Amino acid sequence: MSHEALESLKRRYLTLRKAEAVRVLKIQDELLSEIRAFLKGEGFVEILAPIIGPVTDPGIRGAKQVSIDYYGANFKVMSSMILYKQMMITSLPEIFALSPNIRLEPLETVKTRRHLTEFRQIDVEVAHATYKDMMKLGERMLCHTITVIKKKFRKELDEQKRVLEVPKRPFKKYAHREALEILKNLGISVDYGLEIPWNGEEALSKIHKEPFWITDFPVTARGFYYMEHEDNPTILKDFDLIYPEGFGEAISGGEREYRHDRVVKRMRKSGENISEYGWYLDMLRSGIPPSAGFGIGVERLTRFICGLENIWDAVPFPKVAGFHSP
Ligand code: AMP
Ligand code: MG
Repeated sequence: MSHEALESLKRRYLTLRKAEAVRVLKIQDELLSEIRAFLKGEGFVEILAPIIGPVTDPGIRGAKQVSIDYYGANFKVMSSMILYKQMMITSLPEIFALSPNIRLEPLETVKTRRHLTEFRQIDVEVAHATYKDMMKLGERMLCHTITVIKKKFRKELDEQKRVLEVPKRPFKKYAHREALEILKNLGISVDYGLEIPWNGEEALSKIHKEPFWITDFPVTARGFYYMEHEDNPTILKDFDLIYPEGFGEAISGGEREYRHDRVVKRMRKSGENISEYGWYLDMLRSGIPPSAGFGIGVERLTRFICGLENIWDAVPFPKVAGFHSP
């Protein structure tokens, strides 16, 4: 990233006035309205997302969580509301929230152009759903949003020089293992048990013209809350959606482990500090339904739809790793 682009982050009150910023924010407003309308049409109830709590999602790929002193207790700022979604579906079976997340991402994420330290997800969860149900929902939601934005913002997309096609459903699917094979052929070798690194994700994204899924990540790469396959507990019933054209990851999600004893086993394996998860483990002991869900990053969706080079142009008040901006 050029020094100039970084410096301009400090003067957001100037760049926000430019025609491109105005276009992007109007498109963002519409895509939020459309996703809300779409989900409500499917029977979902919107809930208010938590901002702080005793624990938050530990599966955040090397980013650091933020802690605050909450009347003498150590509370975390939400890195994602996954644990709370599992609580919520005990009450309402189909929910979503516009959920703010803070993750102190490593400094090198400045170069990926798709990482912020403050971002939002549309976070969705459905009781008794399978991960395949959620992939279908994600496809419908994305295609619907693109269709509407294309219709309502033709002029703005032209001004952005953005050629946006509505993807064909069903999207292509690769098992994680297959994705690593493709990467190997591209000259990028990745350890099987780990997350796909950012350069690998981008390389896969670049060779596709339509969004595609990667499923069945190894258990060692992901959080304790994903469900293992019954016939092969080394892989998970989970998925990422990857945007095409180099834009990288759009969605992560999957089926949730909800059984107390299994979660504790998984936490032990992944080295969690079990004592921090008091309310969560109590809740699992009380019994909750199985569920599946996903989160789609709002700023990344905006970046993709508007064809922006940098994610920090897809949010009013951008926060980028290591950089002090308003
Ligand atoms: P994760 O739980 O890490 O898979 O995050 C869920 C979704 O949130 C991702 O698929 C992205 O769309 C989005 N996301 C995650 N981390 C960031 C970040 N640092 N900046 C912007 N969006 C993010
Ligand atoms: Mg992810």
